[in-house]
Amino acid sequence: MFPKKIEINNSQNLKIVWDNDQTSVIPLVKLRNNCPCAVCKADKDEKGDSYIPLYYGDQLKVSEINLLGYYAISIGWQDGHNTGIYEFSHLLKLSE
Ligand SMILES: [Zn+2]
Repeated sequence: MFPKKIEINNSQNLKIVWDNDQTSVIPLVKLRNNCPCAVCKADKDEKGDSYIPLYYGDQLKVSEINLLGYYAISIGWQDGHNTGIYEFSHLLKLSE
């Protein structure tokens, strides 16, 4: 699947319309909590599964979204964190 349209809804959700017309809506807070980058992963590994980071303000505002080839998007947040690469399969899982 490939995204036809990606947008931020009400500054709260990431909305993706896929090329099969399926729509995924993912709350930004969930997206940030599940950032797959090495830094966030290490943080989670260190603190354990029950650790839920609390993000607020600029940390939950998306500043940029870039398409990476045919498999992923990268998301940059307004606090400057931009190392998260979200594979399409990961996005689909988060939207369930
Ligand atoms: Zn991260």
